[in-house]
Amino acid sequence: MKSKRVVIIGAGAAGVAAATRLLESGFENVLLLEAENRFGGRIHTIPFADNVIDLGAQWCHGEQGNAIYELTRGLDMLRPSEEIEGGFKCIRSNKEVVDDAVVEKLRSIILNLEPTHQDGLKDYEGSLGAYITDAFWRKLEALPDIDRVLAREFFENGKKKLSSMDGADNLFEVSGKGQHEYLDCEGDLHLYWKGKGFGSFLRLLMKANQDDPSDLGLLNEHIKYNARVEHIDWQSSKGDIRLRLWNGELILADHVICTVSLGVLKDIHQKLFTPTLPLAKCRAIDGLSLGTVDKFFLEFKQPFAPLNWAGFSFLWQEEDLAELRNSGNYWLESVFNFQTVSNQPRLLQGWILGPHARHMETLAEAEVLDALLWLFNKFLTFEVPTPVRFLRTRWYTNPNFRGSYSFRSVYTDELRTSSSDMATPILDERDGKPLLQFAGEATHPHFYSTAHGAVESGWREAQRLIAHYQEHNSHSQK
Ligand SMILES: Cc1cc2nc3c(=O)[nH]c(=O)nc-3n(C[C@H](O)[C@H](O)[C@H](O)COP(=O)(O)OP(=O)(O)OC[C@H]3O[C@@H](n4cnc5c(N)ncnc54)[C@H](O)[C@@H]3O)c2cc1C
Repeated sequence: MKSKRVVIIGAGAAGVAAATRLLESGFENVLLLEAENRFGGRIHTIPFADNVIDLGAQWCHGEQGNAIYELTRGLDMLRPSEEIEGGFKCIRSNKEVVDDAVVEKLRSIILNLEPTHQDGLKDYEGSLGAYITDAFWRKLEALPDIDRVLAREFFENGKKKLSSMDGADNLFEVSGKGQHEYLDCEGDLHLYWKGKGFGSFLRLLMKANQDDPSDLGLLNEHIKYNARVEHIDWQSSKGDIRLRLWNGELILADHVICTVSLGVLKDIHQKLFTPTLPLAKCRAIDGLSLGTVDKFFLEFKQPFAPLNWAGFSFLWQEEDLAELRNSGNYWLESVFNFQTVSNQPRLLQGWILGPHARHMETLAEAEVLDALLWLFNKFLTFEVPTPVRFLRTRWYTNPNFRGSYSFRSVYTDELRTSSSDMATPILDERDGKPLLQFAGEATHPHFYSTAHGAVESGWREAQRLIAHYQEHNSHSQK
């Protein structure tokens, strides 16, 4: 165990979890190869405005059975989700703020339609979009006093919000029955990080000093940054696994744990691996899906009126939407809401998803900000000041991510593939030794798309190696 060369590709949550577990279990020759110049992957906390912001994962989703919650229990790192007095507003494109009571009725339909509440989905053959559309309009029949035009506008926005939770471009791609593979952890689903963002959790895993960014704790000397792996020969005639980096550097390993995102695998797996991966693995890479969800951050000089709302959603009226779609700002249709941020009184955070998010990523930052200010002006009765600082994420364009988080699509069902095909390791045919292992959120059977799923997947693969050597040792002692 001590001398075995374990290379972990990617220092995101899965890679950090695998590496720390291996190092704590007696492996000494562990190397994380990370393409970016930082650890964390889709957990990326940066200083911004009065505190920090999370460009990727920001909430700990749930308590019971959530590895992240369990590890931080008693450490005063997480805070319960907040009820904000002004509530969440729905605003139509004629600037009308929809009555709170009406919003509440419509929202309760959507909340009850959340996939985890739907037994009817278990045997449903179609998409989540088809199921939910049918259910929404049926449930609305019980509310004859609600204006149908308004209900439609609300539903269009609600579908985007639900898609963003799945990480799908739209709900009509998402498998209805596939939703039951995902498990919610009981408890508060939107716990937020007190003060130091999601990155503080990774530092906890690494046993690194929270106040010293240069300290990597257990991972000191074990991470190589700017180390994009471009080729892995996992059956070389010399018996080693041979990894080639973008700059030509060659690294030899006995075991490789690959944690790159599903988006990266979709993009490069055919040229990354020699020999090519087994067919079942290729089918999983092809059949599991991931979409794009991006965030906007606007920092204002000082808090202003709507910042005492929890946030606001955009409800497009038919004529306005038709006009928008004919304009250069057509992508704004997929900006579904803005919200205030805990610990950050001068900040608004917005969300966009799908192909329009990918288009937004190609635009200059100033152009994106101009469009968002136009959007505020179109919907709000008060003036939004020009922010002092603006930032948007580009999770799709970055070749080290190529999307946000994975989901089960109708195509996943069609190919009859699953995360277990993604997770299956490639073993040495002679002695069953794990050669090439796969971790990362998309390999988790129930917590895919989440940071806690990524962490558990890293532990799973570390444990696979630990178990292999424990078994090996007990055989050699007999
Ligand atoms: C906008 C957004 C919001 C989210 N919100 C939440 C949330 O609130 N709560 C939650 O639980 N989860 C959330 N998630 C999901 C969560 O961030 C991910 O599920 C989790 O962080 C994935 O970790 P991972 O280790 O599987 O993958 P990654 O974090 O993608 O790690 C893989 C690493 O591999 C590196 N890499 C890629 N290619 C190569 C290569 N060729 N060579 C070397 N290195 C390479 C990458 O740079 C990356 O660091 C969110 C994600 C996004 C994008």
